[in-house]
Amino acid sequence: MNDTNEMVLEFESKSQNESFARTVVAAFAAQLDPTIEELSDIKTAVSEAVTNSIIHGYVDCVGIIRMHCKVCNNELTVEIRDTGVGIENIQKAMEPLYTTRPELERSGMGFSFMEAFMDKLEVESTPSMGTLVRMKKRIGKPNVLKDQRAI
Ligand code: ATP
Ligand code: MG
Repeated sequence: MNDTNEMVLEFESKSQNESFARTVVAAFAAQLDPTIEELSDIKTAVSEAVTNSIIHGYVDCVGIIRMHCKVCNNELTVEIRDTGVGIENIQKAMEPLYTTRPELERSGMGFSFMEAFMDKLEVESTPSMGTLVRMKKRIGKPNVLKDQRAI
């Protein structure tokens, strides 16, 4: 039987909530007994996704960001959803160095960091409807060892 645990947090798209959100995810992930490095990876990825909702999703307005976290066995799933402007071309948006806000000195590396620091990244978005970022990370990686033995 899968051992699961879930939580949902909703907060306003204000920049001071970015550190709040990543700290909450880190506290929730603590039940998986992550290393400092794994925790730092998760916090970085959450920061990038939440910052994107604040800056790009809700342009010049404040909206609600909904964060859904789940642990299942040794895997953490984090979903970050906004109902902001959405993304026209997801594939292009996910390319390294692609940004629509160079004037804000964004470097276009947010999605690349999420991809690098988590095991899986999925983005769903509809223009004028909003964006959902789903990230997964296995903590401790015992399954990798098992897979290697199976080969
Ligand atoms: P950086 O993250 O390095 O500061 P960035 O935010 O522009 O720069 P990414 O995080 O990789 O780079 O995002 C790439 C582009 O995808 C953004 O410039 C923006 O156009 C679009 N985007 C990302 N997240 C959202 C979102 N939640 N809503 C609308 N557009 C988004
Ligand atoms: Mg970004």
